[in-house]
Amino acid sequence: MHNNVQQDSQTPNHFRDAIGVVDERTGNRNWIYPKKPKGKLYTGRTWFSIALMALMFSGPFMKINGHPVLLLNILERKFIIFGIPFWPQDLPLFALLMLTFVVFIIVFTVVFGRVWCGWACPQTIFMEMLFRKIEYFFEGDAKEQKRINALKWSSSEKLTKRGTKNTIFFLLSFLIANTFLSYLVGVDEMKKLVTHGPDAHMGQFIALTIFSVVFYIVFAKMREIVCIVVCPYGRLQGLMLDKNSIVVAYDFIRGEPRGQHKRNESDHLGDCVDCHRCVHVCPTGIDIRNGTQLECVNCTACIDECDDVMERMHKPHGLIRYASQEEIAKGSVKRITFRSAAYMVVLACMIGVLSYLLITRKDVEAVILRTPGMLFQNQTDHEVSNMYNFEVVNKTFSGQQVEIKVVSPEHLTLKMVDREESLLQLKEDDIIKGSFFLILDKKYIQENNTPATLRVYSNGVLMDEIKTNFVGPVLH
Ligand code: SF4
Ligand code: SF4
Repeated sequence: MHNNVQQDSQTPNHFRDAIGVVDERTGNRNWIYPKKPKGKLYTGRTWFSIALMALMFSGPFMKINGHPVLLLNILERKFIIFGIPFWPQDLPLFALLMLTFVVFIIVFTVVFGRVWCGWACPQTIFMEMLFRKIEYFFEGDAKEQKRINALKWSSSEKLTKRGTKNTIFFLLSFLIANTFLSYLVGVDEMKKLVTHGPDAHMGQFIALTIFSVVFYIVFAKMREIVCIVVCPYGRLQGLMLDKNSIVVAYDFIRGEPRGQHKRNESDHLGDCVDCHRCVHVCPTGIDIRNGTQLECVNCTACIDECDDVMERMHKPHGLIRYASQEEIAKGSVKRITFRSAAYMVVLACMIGVLSYLLITRKDVEAVILRTPGMLFQNQTDHEVSNMYNFEVVNKTFSGQQVEIKVVSPEHLTLKMVDREESLLQLKEDDIIKGSFFLILDKKYIQENNTPATLRVYSNGVLMDEIKTNFVGPVLH
């Protein structure tokens, strides 16, 4: 908080004791009616959100070689990111990918603040650029909305406007739920629900209904509560932001002391004319002049609004602008601090490890282990065998021909159990489990544990080399 900022309320830090969305007296929800924003940044955000929404809604239909570009099937633990499939066996790699993403978000937030919230978060985009615009269309600007709200439900105007708006809200929520589920189970599964009907896919139908209702509640009822109370990223801002992070900030040096500029009386006043337009336009109901607050989602509506006031006052733009606290207080710009540099080093290391793991990731993964509880078996009078279990996973979308070969020692042979062919034919996303014997003539056994090497080839390409010990009795 800026110490030299004049406060509207009874005590200097009064705004810290309550949030704008809760009535201090009753504890009830204070419904926010933000004034319709307009300005350069709002126009920019509108176009940017149109592009993002087009991407989000068309995403499930985008495919590479017949497979989705993005699939996050949590139930089956099957993930496809930019066309690269990740199976349950890739869990450590996937976990590292997610961790790297989280660190990236932290670095980004430390330097650029909540740019994500204002410009790219699906919650803000859908809320401000879809649902709110529909609300303005049917119910008008803030004042008009308040008037309609005050009407009785018996009023045909309220009934028609609210009824139409909420029907469209629910249809949009249904569309968003379909898109969301398409990212989870794939668009082809969702198409089956449409063609075969709910009876054949009851689980999906229930999930779709639940998500539609949840999205409706989120966008029609909860709104800014999601950003202020529910979103963990929003709640962690206090940890991530520092005085050098770029935020939507009020220039209190230039703006204070605030006041209505009257003729011949403006000399001692700052540029803020205390018009409250920045407050009226705020979708989270805060006064940015109190300083950086967790409720601020950096939507930039107050920047546009204040710039318009400044233009009318023939003053320069930017009384509210993107700036760090240090920039406002001392005029110094320090984008990279020790803290952000340290995060960047950690991020660079993680990206390095991740890239290495992704580049060296094999198309086929084989796990070969000695069958537990078995040392060796006498196959014939002169041959001894060791039994092994194997599991071969095809991580690609194409068929793989896998072969396990013995490299050493000489004379060691491999015989599959219950399988004629030693070649394993794996279809896409396929797992084959089985057993084989390693067999050696007793006359070649020189020691109890003979080092042995096996190699796994897929489509003729070496995938893995396995070192083991062949266990057998030494003949004396
Ligand atoms: S819009 Fe600008 S001038 Fe008006 S109250 Fe807000 S900061 Fe002050
Ligand atoms: S303070 Fe400004 S940027 Fe922050 S949420 Fe309110 S209007 Fe948006």
